[in-house]
Amino acid sequence: MDRWLAEHSNLSRSEAKAAVRAKRVKVDCHLAISASQKVDSEAVILVDNELVAIRVPQYVMLHKPLGVICATIDGLHQTVIDLLPPAFKTLHPVGRLDKETTGLVILTDDGQWSHRVAHPKYNCEKRYLVTTKWPIPEATIERLLAGVVLRDDPTPVAAKSIDRLADNQLMITISEGRYHQVRRMIAACENRVMQLHRTNIGSLELDISEGEWRQLTPEEVSSLA
Ligand code: URA
Repeated sequence: MDRWLAEHSNLSRSEAKAAVRAKRVKVDCHLAISASQKVDSEAVILVDNELVAIRVPQYVMLHKPLGVICATIDGLHQTVIDLLPPAFKTLHPVGRLDKETTGLVILTDDGQWSHRVAHPKYNCEKRYLVTTKWPIPEATIERLLAGVVLRDDPTPVAAKSIDRLADNQLMITISEGRYHQVRRMIAACENRVMQLHRTNIGSLELDISEGEWRQLTPEEVSSLA
């Protein structure tokens, strides 16, 4: 709450904390209880009974370049947040891509929506273009579709669908989001990922150039969760 007020009103963060303590802040008609409380999507915030803003949740698509990390802050590497304008600094990535993976990342400040898109139980499919070190035999495609056991993880994971593009290139669709899942699935088949690029999340397709971002349309937001 204090950070949100500091970004949307003329109060500093400490003034925002003091205003909450002094019971000057209302959220959706109720007194704010704490400066650390979360501000829900579309909350109506009043300070001294004046409307500060109606929080409108933001949804952004980013084409993540190689070497950028999916975190909000990092002392060492450029993060996905560093690629967005200041107004979007409070967004967080929905799920993660490895530093060495490129492609589609969604960012939002709508926690509930983000949870639905990222949670395995909602089965949101992700599509990856995978380039491997060695040619991929047909038998490997069958193994990936049937389910492979990853190192340190006894529950098998299967690809939802696979299209071959070249001897060493596949489009692979998965619905879970386990740690380094695609790289580990390929490693379980005695091969190695050289390039990994995410093209789709559910019905959303990456349609911007590397390093660019754009806001999602309301139709895209509602089609994802
Ligand atoms: N699978 C991976 O191995 N890495 C990613 O970044 C995404 C899926």
